Amino acid sequence: MKSYRMASWWLRPWHLPFNKKVRDDFRRRASDFAQAGADSAIIFGAHFRWDFEHEMDQIHELIAFAAEELAQYKIVLFDHHSTVLTCSCRREISSDRSANFSNHRQVLLSRPAGSRTTDFHDDWKMLNIDDGKPVFLPQYSAEEFCFSNPDFVAAYLNYVRRLLRETGIGGLMSDDAFYYSHRACGCPYCRELFCQELGMSFPASDDLSFWGNYENPKYRRYLDLRRHTVTKFTAKVKSVLPTDFPLMNCCAYCMLPYSSGRGLNYRNFIAGGSNLIMQEMSGNTPDATTGELLSFGYPQQLYHLALSREHRLPCIGLGYGYSSSNAEIIWAFNKFLGSGTWYSSLVQRLGLSDRDLIRIPDDPCQLGHCFQAEKQFPEWFVSESASECAVFYSNATMEQYGDSVTDYADDFCFVIKRCTELGYSPDVLTSIPDPEQSRYKILIVPSAVALSDYELESLERWHCRKPLLLLGPCGFLDETGEPRQTTFAQRHGWQAAFPPLNRTGHPLISPIIIQKLTPAESEAPRVLKEFHLLWLTARVSSEFPNAAQEFIEQFIVPIRADGWLFRKYIDAQGRWLIHGIASQFQVELDRELEKLRDRHTPMFKHLKIIRELHPMAAIPDLRQFTPEAILTPLEKVQVHASCDSIKDCAYFILRLAATSHINTH
Ligand SMILES: [Zn+2]
Repeated sequence: MKSYRMASWWLRPWHLPFNKKVRDDFRRRASDFAQAGADSAIIFGAHFRWDFEHEMDQIHELIAFAAEELAQYKIVLFDHHSTVLTCSCRREISSDRSANFSNHRQVLLSRPAGSRTTDFHDDWKMLNIDDGKPVFLPQYSAEEFCFSNPDFVAAYLNYVRRLLRETGIGGLMSDDAFYYSHRACGCPYCRELFCQELGMSFPASDDLSFWGNYENPKYRRYLDLRRHTVTKFTAKVKSVLPTDFPLMNCCAYCMLPYSSGRGLNYRNFIAGGSNLIMQEMSGNTPDATTGELLSFGYPQQLYHLALSREHRLPCIGLGYGYSSSNAEIIWAFNKFLGSGTWYSSLVQRLGLSDRDLIRIPDDPCQLGHCFQAEKQFPEWFVSESASECAVFYSNATMEQYGDSVTDYADDFCFVIKRCTELGYSPDVLTSIPDPEQSRYKILIVPSAVALSDYELESLERWHCRKPLLLLGPCGFLDETGEPRQTTFAQRHGWQAAFPPLNRTGHPLISPIIIQKLTPAESEAPRVLKEFHLLWLTARVSSEFPNAAQEFIEQFIVPIRADGWLFRKYIDAQGRWLIHGIASQFQVELDRELEKLRDRHTPMFKHLKIIRELHPMAAIPDLRQFTPEAILTPLEKVQVHASCDSIKDCAYFILRLAATSHINTH
């Protein structure tokens, strides 16, 4: 599978008008991309593309010139823009400073002022279900066009055709096309679709027997319809692209409690023909305050890698930084995960003046030599996961009740994080494999309340041959969210019950219920055992039970060292590669630039200018692995024949001879 080495190609306010000086800058920049070893670049800027309707010729001229310059070095240029978002001019003059600062049109590339009216394509906009006004998205000070609106869809497809014709791009990231708001959409097209598909009239906005009521099967079908609409729109975009043209979509933070019902899950994009999986690491990587490498997004990263393996589609991890030291760690973390890299700065969101922000090197110049190391030693990076521990992601559970509360995603994420820290190097699976064919030695299933008949049968097949660990409630509902006739517990003659969900409606205005409902814990937690099967019925979302740990470690040997994370791969010659990366860093900020930032910008707290990163823990004793060779790709790339020559480093790869794998049971 292709593994991208990508960095952002920023469009800055001073790139218009496009004169000789800018052309020279672009030529120099293309050569910087080549020197860094990048194989791809991606546009960042003019993000709310519809807002540049009157300057599109100029924007396309910039993109076309960049594509042509990069092509000389065989580097492909992707475009990246928001498909559906537009600035809300209604709120343009706002007393809320943060709203103005998060205005993408202004922060990413300014357009000439004064040529816009407040009702810019109002007929395309998503409307609030309750008051019929255009939906307002405070996080971007934006409004959203509706992808059920045939006029908007036709206009967007025409835009994509024109973009391809005029710019010579080799890939597209069509961003943001999902429902940003639970209050959307009440436009005439969405109302009509609703009535057609659900066979009922559109409920009043205060009818809580419908809105937010998971106990109402029609409401659950309504959420399915939203997901399906996202897929249908993706398929339309795909239909105007050449065959195999790379299409990437929104980052999809699908583990957030409200994402599923908004259609934000990468599986919806893949179902529509998306063929490149994107995973964003928002904020700083590692965290600027704690120095921790694993963020709340980590379980989702493993989920995206599961989609990547299962659909045989490349995955690309976007991380943000402002220095070589940070760029190298972001690249190393992506290699550790088994993902391609998209490295980007995000200078326009720092609240620095134009004069100050040019002190931060351009993105390709921050890359150091990490992309070159990957080019120079490809055999160390072309590999397949050799993990022995699998954690099942239950999509039915996520969709049928994991959405409006934090229950399922919480449990799933906690189990993933703990299994990683305990050294099990888990992979996520979205389907239950055939135990005979699978390399996994154990399957862990956290809080999979809703399972299809096929999934239940697959679980039974699995545990007849291989160990199965169930944590929390399991298999009480079917994949549509209806109670099962025969539950998993009953099949085994157990009395484990599932109390009523009590998920009655919630008002549209506050869609996110953060309150945790704990269905399995209202009865006494129990431990149920059979050969190869352990079921701890209590939910696991804050403490990993000792019994679970003991059960897992009967079947796999963890790789643990304080302050380090490990993942195992197998290379083309059947040799194991063990990637080790520091789990925590000492973070040094660029104090001088930090002082110059406007403290009132919304990202001031969330995004810091990291200058240097140093691993907290010393390198572990590697002799126990008896590697035949070790690669240290950061700072000075080097292959070592013995562990003794390895000094301080934040990332290493051990290669084990094909016959000397770590002894497992
Ligand atoms: Zn609509």
